[in-house]
Amino acid sequence: MSGQESESDTTLNEIERIDKEYVFGTWSFQSEVNPTEIVHTDGVTFTDANGNEYIDFSGQLMCSNLGHSAERVTEAVSEQINDTAYVAPGFTTEARAKLGKKLAAVTPGDLSKTFFSTSGTEAVEAAIKIARFYTGKQKIISRYRSYHGATYGSISVTGDPRRLAAEPGIPGTIKAPDPYAYGSTLDPMQSLDYIEEMLKLEGDTIAAVLVEPIVGSNGILVPPNEYLPRLKEIAHEHGALLVCDEVMAGFGRTGEWFGCDLFDVEPDIMTMAKGLTGAYQPLGATIVSSEIAEYFEDTMFCHGHTYSGHPAAVAAGLAAVETYQSENLIEQAREAGEYLETRLDDLAKKHPSVGDTRGIGLFRGIELTKNSKKRVPFGTREDKVSKGSTVVDEVASKAYGNGVYVANMINTLIIAPPLTITNAEIDDAVTALDSALKVSDNAMEEGLME
Ligand code: PMP
Repeated sequence: MSGQESESDTTLNEIERIDKEYVFGTWSFQSEVNPTEIVHTDGVTFTDANGNEYIDFSGQLMCSNLGHSAERVTEAVSEQINDTAYVAPGFTTEARAKLGKKLAAVTPGDLSKTFFSTSGTEAVEAAIKIARFYTGKQKIISRYRSYHGATYGSISVTGDPRRLAAEPGIPGTIKAPDPYAYGSTLDPMQSLDYIEEMLKLEGDTIAAVLVEPIVGSNGILVPPNEYLPRLKEIAHEHGALLVCDEVMAGFGRTGEWFGCDLFDVEPDIMTMAKGLTGAYQPLGATIVSSEIAEYFEDTMFCHGHTYSGHPAAVAAGLAAVETYQSENLIEQAREAGEYLETRLDDLAKKHPSVGDTRGIGLFRGIELTKNSKKRVPFGTREDKVSKGSTVVDEVASKAYGNGVYVANMINTLIIAPPLTITNAEIDDAVTALDSALKVSDNAMEEGLME
């Protein structure tokens, strides 16, 4: 109900109170939403209305890959808006054509033609439709520990509990187990055998197998090297396409352009967003192989949006991709990632509640446990949906109090800073986490005494 104040409202400033009253907070009990007004971003930091500065150790929503001072991108956007603010998708702009060509160059192998949208979820919606049109089949296999977006098709192929409120969702979606070495009863390659079995048992009905090559918000899961190549093989053996959702893993996050590059796998369709513009503009993209592109020469491409290829968004995308290249940010992420790994290992040695540290490049997770032998999580996937807050939230909130913003999901802290982060900034952030992890260490000890 509008106009009602909860106790926490008293700590909000006027803007934050207005926002809380009139704007929905995402994925939250609205009574618990306490928006913080941000007034400035710079480099790898952001500043709130009280003048407190924070290290952005998660690149906001794992999307600010370029940091917050990418002038080439801001200039490209403002020039574009001043020049040609908007044209319908039937027209084109220089940036749209050039970005299409660039994406064909930086994505693996034969991926060649792009459909532009404005978000990750729309990129996935397009991938689902294209896979269905092209194969003439309907079903999509995806995995339980996955997130592919909030709109109906994407939330239906999403495996994590965010899907539950939208179920049964669109027809023809099937979920498979994941390569989750730390927490699953199946070992990663066994989970792949399971998918192979599903493909056999479903007969010739599967349009695509859709995966995040490195699982992002569901815990930063890196599969064994043989996993993705074998997944492509078994999908193709059964006439299904491989769709890689690179919305979070793409654009240097892993120290390669794309997650699938780590395994030398070329998907049939790839989805992108987030790092595509480094979050300077909302832009999603779905790129397909030349064979799939060719199919639509004489078959209608039944898809489109008003803002498909929006001039300012593609201008941001083009300038962002040029920035990754000219600033060698992919290599930089690889090196910074190696340093980050050593620092997270330090935390794992020191804190009993750190069950696992994992990841690659600047895409890493710290999974917490209240019992390291039995690997018991502090909060389950279901807790997160029903109760909202878990011990991991408290650790993240303590880190925030120490000047470091770190995202968290279910039982894992997610570290995905701008690729521009320095070792000294990593050290500062790790110091703040070091102190915050005492919260989970203490919670673990209290549990042991129960
Ligand atoms: N796919 C993946 C892998 C994602 O991580 C996300 C967002 N976190 C999405 C799709 C959806 O992107 P968006 O929020 O831009 O719709």
